[in-house]
Amino acid sequence: MELYELALKRAGVPDLAEFQRREGLPPTGRPDGGTWAALLPWLTGYRHYRAAPGDNYTRIAARYGTTVRALITANPNQDPLRLYVGQVLTVPLGFEVVPTDLPFTWELLSLCLEGLGARYPFLTVRAIGETAYGRKLWQIAVGLGPRRVLYNAAHHANEWITVPVLMKFLEDYARAISENGRIYGFPAQALYQRCTLHLVPMVDPDGVDLVTGALRAGDPGFAEARALAEGFPQVPFPAGWKANLRGVDLNLNYPARWEQAREIKFSQGWDRPGPRDYVGPAPLSEPETEALAGLTERTAPGLTISLHTQGKAIYWKFGSMEPAGARELGERFAAVSGYALEDVPYASGFAGYKDWFILTRDRPGYTLELGSGENPLPLSQFDEIYAATRGILALGLAEG
Ligand SMILES: [Zn+2]
Repeated sequence: MELYELALKRAGVPDLAEFQRREGLPPTGRPDGGTWAALLPWLTGYRHYRAAPGDNYTRIAARYGTTVRALITANPNQDPLRLYVGQVLTVPLGFEVVPTDLPFTWELLSLCLEGLGARYPFLTVRAIGETAYGRKLWQIAVGLGPRRVLYNAAHHANEWITVPVLMKFLEDYARAISENGRIYGFPAQALYQRCTLHLVPMVDPDGVDLVTGALRAGDPGFAEARALAEGFPQVPFPAGWKANLRGVDLNLNYPARWEQAREIKFSQGWDRPGPRDYVGPAPLSEPETEALAGLTERTAPGLTISLHTQGKAIYWKFGSMEPAGARELGERFAAVSGYALEDVPYASGFAGYKDWFILTRDRPGYTLELGSGENPLPLSQFDEIYAATRGILALGLAEG
């Protein structure tokens, strides 16, 4: 499904030509410039509206299928009782922004973040860096509290299903905050006051776009990746791709006994850039790992959770290091998810983000292996995976 098809589905229109007719555009049947602008609100989930004579919040909410509360949330500096003609309001549309039924790409992520930022102005969205191919590395901050936690997803390209998991959690949490509701039983406002959550929902956007098909033959980086992959014919292309487009496995690029990881992976034949398991020329050699390490140092979180697939497992140690409280919290994560708290296999035990976090901060850091099967996991597993993961993510806000 293309992005414009998602927009048409949400708009309840059968095809582009019909959409164009309704919008008063030439019915070309193609998503050209003017049509794209009209489709955009159906992807970001909001539009701007200029108040007309006789308007009030109730009337505007009814017209766009939203609620007065959502309007108030999206326009925090406007007085609902002093609406004047010509005033421009941000109007959330009546659907959830984050889709869970189509592959995530960097463009879709960017649209979702634009939309969530407009609907929930208490979210801060910024770029902490960009990839070698110019895709921004997005970070979202939410919360006022002194406790800090950092969640990330998609260190590995073909584990992109972790992106909608983290994004749906963000949307559910933001809505619960705005409605003074609960998330996984916890009062969201209390979590918001207690804790500042930092999210990096797509650590490897270049690789994700390769695996999900957003990057096509002819696009910058595609030919280079395919050339690297030809040296590893046992790895399906692009479905088996885990690395960034420079062929570095980002979760083997952190300075946590990186030399040990290098020795192990080189001895297994992963001794050069390729689809997976290459540690890179040096620790933090990649813009993605450098950005995430920098964010981690600036924010100094007391807890980190990294989302991967697959195996229904929770990894929590680095070598023999067991940060205080990490086993107990890991056992609670296991209880709410049904996943197993496990020791990392020796050959995978070095140079990962969790390893580096535990080594440098001696605080609880976890790698979650979500779902089961062969990567990339199908979206048909999404609901089950999200049901298992959201309790862990909420508990992390309450206990981290
Ligand atoms: Zn992984």
